[in-house]
Amino acid sequence: TDIEKDSNPIHIIHVTAEMAPIAKVGGLGDVVTGLARACLSHGHAVDVMLPFYECIEKQQINDLALITEYNTFYDGNWVPTNAYRGVVSGIPVIFIEPSNEFFKGQNVYGGSYNELEAYLFLSRACLEWMQVAGVQPDIIHVHEWQTGALPLLYWDMYQNLSLKKPRVVLTIHNMEHYGECGKDQLSKCGLDGSIYASVDKAMDDRTIGHNPERLSLLKGGIVYSNAVVTVSPTYLKETLCSGWLASTLLSNRDKYFGILNGIDTVIWDPATDVFLPANFHAQKPEGKKICKYYVQRGLGLVSEGTLAGDPVPHITDNVPLIVCITRLVAQKGLHLITQAIKRTEELGGQMIVLGKAPDARVQGEFEDLANSHNQGSSIRILLMYSEELSHMLYAAADMVLVPSIYEPCGLAQMIGMRYGAVPVVRKTGGLADTVFDMDDSSNREMANGFVFEGIDEGSLNCALDRAFRHYREKTDEWNSIVQKVMEIDNSWNNTAGKYIETYNSIRVRW
Ligand code: ADP
Repeated sequence: TDIEKDSNPIHIIHVTAEMAPIAKVGGLGDVVTGLARACLSHGHAVDVMLPFYECIEKQQINDLALITEYNTFYDGNWVPTNAYRGVVSGIPVIFIEPSNEFFKGQNVYGGSYNELEAYLFLSRACLEWMQVAGVQPDIIHVHEWQTGALPLLYWDMYQNLSLKKPRVVLTIHNMEHYGECGKDQLSKCGLDGSIYASVDKAMDDRTIGHNPERLSLLKGGIVYSNAVVTVSPTYLKETLCSGWLASTLLSNRDKYFGILNGIDTVIWDPATDVFLPANFHAQKPEGKKICKYYVQRGLGLVSEGTLAGDPVPHITDNVPLIVCITRLVAQKGLHLITQAIKRTEELGGQMIVLGKAPDARVQGEFEDLANSHNQGSSIRILLMYSEELSHMLYAAADMVLVPSIYEPCGLAQMIGMRYGAVPVVRKTGGLADTVFDMDDSSNREMANGFVFEGIDEGSLNCALDRAFRHYREKTDEWNSIVQKVMEIDNSWNNTAGKYIETYNSIRVRW
């Protein structure tokens, strides 16, 4: 509300595979919604273009209406496609619904169609829609490998048709997935795949001399976009030093920027959050105790008998509660999560893990852990995805654990802090840019959590031990850290301006 409007408004269209809360799998969905809202509040025009996944709950979309029936090219045919307009969480969205099998299924990802080809289709379908509808934004903002072919299609095809004005920004949220694509697959969206099979274009460098058939949509996106952004300054440095895309990024260094993600403070606000049994904020923190008790009681982490008649019992109030809310994949430090469960139990604390494993073997391992721990009085392992529960857990937590092996930005530590949970994190990527150790005497001003560097169990133990000791032995100091982390501004207000500067620096001024 108190945000000043920019003097020269521009039009940005995001093309993305995820958007919170209707089609969110991880941080990508949160970032698109948060950045779009921040740019809207600065006075810019923003639309989000998203596949009309079958799994999207239509009641979460306001004012849904069919706006364009058109055909878009795919694999030698023109596929009848519908574009709908709607509003999601205050943000205008254009939904692309093809008449073929793409985007059908119970989940955002993992349907029985060919995912790579579905996103190649989407990339073309969005440009085709802009052309048919006569919409020319200043900026087309694409995200991840899924929309990495769009800059190629734009510069090599649609610029020669009628789209002239837009410039293209690519944000890389995670370098791990690079959109491996065959030459012939790329050709299906109407480009000549063989043109891109060179080192200076989209060829996967690791296959030089072996397999010129193999391309990377992410690499093509880097080469063909006007600006490339990744989601934290430290991750930017890390990606220039290691990984096979490092040389491509280095040779595009002058258009490559590190901009820290923000969190969406409409979705994530403990003062107004409708999922919480009690609201709270830095100046009025009492509600947090109610949230902690509510969660402990709901999950059987407190026995009713001892607490009869006491609305906010103090018995479990002094047991530190740590939460870990994450996709259960190798990147997130699975062995360190397991170790934290063990260590928390040894230290007499409580820990709740909320996570979903896409891999059946990992899911099985955590199911075993759940079976052996969930009956006790200290650990709960909840193997599901639940937006509602995640809000309650952040609010209930004294600490939030993010022990990632690598972490481009990481939202969990930022959300946790806003909800008064002190972060315990591994020093990597965006975690290194947002969490500073309490015991580092050289940086008292920024100190806001507990940080460890090694990927071994001892390093984690050390940070966890220090956090628990602080919590138990220095109550006043702990309360002031809680207040401090709640007051840190990790919102888009802080960093959306850097995106707007980037947009303006590449924009064509008529
Ligand atoms: P990534 O994008 O790699 O998954 P981030 O930390 O950037 O990691 O973003 C993760 C987001 O997904 C956070 O908003 C987190 O709360 C949410 N999240 C992860 N797992 C779950 C889950 N099982 N249930 C609810 N929310 C989850």
